[in-house]
Amino acid sequence: MVNETHDPAARSWVASANQSGADFPIQNLPLGAFRRTAAEQPRAGMAIGDRVLDLESCGAWDGPLHALMASPATQRAALRLAVFRLLRDDATPSTRARVEQALLPLDAVTMVMPAPIGDFTDFFGSIHHASRAVELMRPGAPLFESYRSMPLAYHGRSSSIVVSGTDVRRPRGQRRRREGGAAYEPTRRLDYEAELGIFAGPGNDLGSPIAIGDAWAHVVGVCLLNDWSARDIQAWESDPLGPFLGKSFATTVSPWVVTAEALAPYRVAAAPRGDDAPPLPDYLCSADDAALGAMAIEVEVAILTSAMRTAGDAPHRLSLSNAATLYWTSAQLVTHQTSNGCNLRPGDLLGSGTLSGIDRTTWACLLELTRGGREPITLPSGESRAFLEDGDEIVIRGRASAPGAPGLGLGECRGRVVAA
Ligand code: CA
Repeated sequence: MVNETHDPAARSWVASANQSGADFPIQNLPLGAFRRTAAEQPRAGMAIGDRVLDLESCGAWDGPLHALMASPATQRAALRLAVFRLLRDDATPSTRARVEQALLPLDAVTMVMPAPIGDFTDFFGSIHHASRAVELMRPGAPLFESYRSMPLAYHGRSSSIVVSGTDVRRPRGQRRRREGGAAYEPTRRLDYEAELGIFAGPGNDLGSPIAIGDAWAHVVGVCLLNDWSARDIQAWESDPLGPFLGKSFATTVSPWVVTAEALAPYRVAAAPRGDDAPPLPDYLCSADDAALGAMAIEVEVAILTSAMRTAGDAPHRLSLSNAATLYWTSAQLVTHQTSNGCNLRPGDLLGSGTLSGIDRTTWACLLELTRGGREPITLPSGESRAFLEDGDEIVIRGRASAPGAPGLGLGECRGRVVAA
């Protein structure tokens, strides 16, 4: 799985890619779609340092990014290797001259959605988040018995998935009134959930499940995802059929997809299932997946309020968690989603679930951090928050890291709340 494109000593002739702490060193080469002008169709690109490489202009890929996502893993790997060699510091002067004219500054292009997303499923992959959510929403109730038997999820809405930087309008909806009955008004309990998004590759035919050993060939890569949630709407509508309008008003994704292949050196053992966990059905079991099915990706959530923005303050960190603590692996999500024969199609998106770990510093939504709004948090600006206010911006950043390997950034997933 690891080849010359993962060589930690490799350097690029694009100087910004070699800076310590850069999101996009030559070992990353994430996929994204961009526009140079508002009028043109999205173009497929790869990020390198502070540049985007136009894949068509450099002759590497002639077509939209979603067509590349649909191609077999071997073809995607061949493209990654070819681009890696074009950008490595031993490229010939003539190659470099040719490729240089296909590089654009990242701040000169507009990033758009990586793919038209057909279907979106959001899983509940962190047992720590699930346990605390149950405790807060149904005090005294145990974790669902099914939780440790299979990855649980709800079917989300793809039409309202937006790219980082898009404002999020506070939704109106129904909430239960204390005095009885329901009110329809702007949500009072707007929250974020920091997650990873997994983009599906070639997909499967209807009726043909994906075996767990084949699952990674169907994963193009991962992005950052904010599953915006209106807790009052969600609480009132979710019993018995699960989240609906409390989640479907907006979901934000980061524009860069860090490929499954780039992440190979950052794979680690799946989190322990616990000695008392029920035995798993065979279709969800794999020794390889247990040994290397998780991804060591740190995810930070920060908030920037209107007052902080006016004062010129930097976003304030709310949590720092790690995707390696997820109870269910990406392969298990893909396999379970297709286990009834349901088909995944290229560009489909699977959310990991809120990336909360055990310690309070890792809790990746306000529902957990404020104990359901009962214990507001105080920010360095002196403001307090139980839930999000208009003007608040949530900034999610991610970084894969492994001993001896360069850090790979996932870029940013930002969204600002605007009034209903
Ligand atoms: Ca979620």
